[in-house]
Amino acid sequence: MSFENLNLAEPIQRALKSEGYTQPTPVQEQAIPILLDHKDLLACAQTGTGKTAAFSIPIIQSLLENPADPTRSRQIKALILCPTRELAAQIGQNFNSYARFTAVRSAVIFGGVPQPPQEAALIRGVDVLIATPGRLLDLMGQGYIHFGNLEWFVLDEADLMLDMGFIPDIKRIIAKLPSSRQSVFLSATMPPEAVRLAKSILYKPEKVDVTEQLSSADSINQSLYFVNNPDKRALLIYVLKKTPGGNALVFTNTKSAADRISQSLNQAGIRAESIHGNKPQHARIKALGDFKSNRTRVLVATDIAARGIDVSNLSMVINYELPNVSQMYIHRIGRTGRAGAGGSAVSFCDSGEKAYLNDINKLLAQNIPVVADHPFMRTPDRSNSQAKITPSLPRRTIILRSSVAVHEEQSV
Ligand code: AMP
Repeated sequence: MSFENLNLAEPIQRALKSEGYTQPTPVQEQAIPILLDHKDLLACAQTGTGKTAAFSIPIIQSLLENPADPTRSRQIKALILCPTRELAAQIGQNFNSYARFTAVRSAVIFGGVPQPPQEAALIRGVDVLIATPGRLLDLMGQGYIHFGNLEWFVLDEADLMLDMGFIPDIKRIIAKLPSSRQSVFLSATMPPEAVRLAKSILYKPEKVDVTEQLSSADSINQSLYFVNNPDKRALLIYVLKKTPGGNALVFTNTKSAADRISQSLNQAGIRAESIHGNKPQHARIKALGDFKSNRTRVLVATDIAARGIDVSNLSMVINYELPNVSQMYIHRIGRTGRAGAGGSAVSFCDSGEKAYLNDINKLLAQNIPVVADHPFMRTPDRSNSQAKITPSLPRRTIILRSSVAVHEEQSV
């Protein structure tokens, strides 16, 4: 199928051509006709599938078909709600590219930056608002935002919204939206809580699921290194030096680990920056910008800070720690090997992570190939037997502390 078959307005077709898109991705091919047919949509899709265009294009098309009255100030016709500032900024950029040959006007609002420019944009009037929940509620409370004319509501990365505790905010926002609207619910995973939320938002939705295609992405070369936890930093440096040139996104489970790893890499002569929720907004934007423009080679990130970030031509994803939710593995590695381009996904596994590895292998329905020969080798069998040995007191203390740290930091 090509974009021509979708009967899109000429300015949209032109924008897609100038973006270099030749044909729709699977989620676009399935979702765009549903949305153009005025139906609600429940889509299981993650960043990298082209989901932003899948909902942006029908919104732009509908705004072109029902243009705003030029004699009145613009009213918000579409609200796109997402969990993180980075994701909001990225959706805003993509949306503007797709709408660039139209008069459709959008604004992005999120916290951590001064409010006045956002207020000014809202006073000037926008058709499409892309927002994170906190700042949106602030501005709604201050009377800058009215949803009386809203036609579209998109909830993006819904599972992450739930993980981040946004459910009360989402409910407060939804309560202010007109009930006759078209709604889109996007989530990378569908835990029962997400299903319940989707049911409360959508009316007779059509469903699209593209997670399978991604999980079996052949273009990603996966490998697994068994390693003792204290050797992980040295192994990371080894892996990066072994494959010079390419950029790498390194995932850690905690914010403090992200900072420590990035420092070690810089000390080893590998330019790296970290990105996580404790960093001020300007530092996060800089770290991301430096990485995208290849000023730094490595970005070390927590899942939440990195979720939704789209970096084209990412050579390598490194799981410094395995995610404790197996589907997160697929989300992480899906950042590389985009659009059939080659990419590699390297994972480190220490003795405490064996259960996570089993879950991931089960989900993949295959075992991640193990790198059998490296300088920091830890055989899986040895680790199992080590795990069974009753730990001495100091070791137990370390385990306890690290598990508390994970617990404390996972919520951010
Ligand atoms: P998303 O999943 O929306 O974050 O999109 C991931 C990446 O895919 C973005 O860099 C888009 O520019 C790109 N993309 C989206 N749709 C297409 C398409 N039809 N052809 C090629 N690239 C695309």
